[in-house]
Amino acid sequence: MTKTQPKPEFFDLNDSDNSCFLCNNPRYYKTIKIDHFDFPFEYKTCKCGMVKQTPMPNEKFFEWFFNSDVFFSAKKTDKDFIWGYYDYFKDESSRMATSAYRHRRLKYIFEGTDRPLNVMKIGPATGTFLYLAKKKGHNVLGCDVSNQFANYAMENYDVPIDIGRFERKGYKDGQFDVIMLLNVIENVPNLDEFMQAIVRTLSPNGHFVFNYVDMHNNLIAKLQGKKYFIYRPPICYVIDRFTVAKMMKKYGFKIKRQHWDVRYMHLEKISTLLHWKWLLTLSKALGISRVNFPIYAYPSKVVVAVKA
Ligand SMILES: [Zn+2]
Repeated sequence: MTKTQPKPEFFDLNDSDNSCFLCNNPRYYKTIKIDHFDFPFEYKTCKCGMVKQTPMPNEKFFEWFFNSDVFFSAKKTDKDFIWGYYDYFKDESSRMATSAYRHRRLKYIFEGTDRPLNVMKIGPATGTFLYLAKKKGHNVLGCDVSNQFANYAMENYDVPIDIGRFERKGYKDGQFDVIMLLNVIENVPNLDEFMQAIVRTLSPNGHFVFNYVDMHNNLIAKLQGKKYFIYRPPICYVIDRFTVAKMMKKYGFKIKRQHWDVRYMHLEKISTLLHWKWLLTLSKALGISRVNFPIYAYPSKVVVAVKA
């Protein structure tokens, strides 16, 4: 079997150890070498707390990765390590349950208004969250690098998704009342350009909602070390509550609320993310591998910030 290898041109060699978008005065002092995937790669920690992959994956990397079978269905490619999802489109019931829960937690944004909001979700996957926002009367739009999600969202939920990178789409200044991204921020190769595009296109007092995996006092990360799921090829930045606070300040946001990110998942997904094949086998034997239940996953946090 041929190995799936990223090409040299899939990396941004301008984003070197001489740069850190967060502090502009980098000193990288710690290297984490990951060698249990098809190819080795590294993360480096800056003294400001930001951890980034070096060399940094670029847009070509993501075009390749998110349209590859490796991402869409590990089953098909028969790999030991799961890069993306075990079988993406079969997880739809989990995603809908998670989106419904997230709407309940963000009620004060989506129901506490007397006019329809212009809602942008970056990386909306199959569009479940936008579908629920649309049912509440809001104008929704997604933006994703993958074609496959866009077709699915349009066919199943009548939710429009633009194809391409959000920061390159040329949306109007102040066009959106809400910009959301979930399980995205760690996957953005040029966070500075990305954050500037968010600030520009968000309306005054608009809401910026995102989640992140908090590495501060993260027990699962400590237990799993380099095998922790965050250290995967498409993860560009590894962050914690302190780097998030610095980022919000740098781009002119005020953090309004933070809450735990609860997701609905089934054991098939959890066992593949954790590389626990025994759990997959056991749960399948018991017939409970695809039952959804809420868990405080990863652990990640949802941040609601307002453009100051
Ligand atoms: Zn730095």
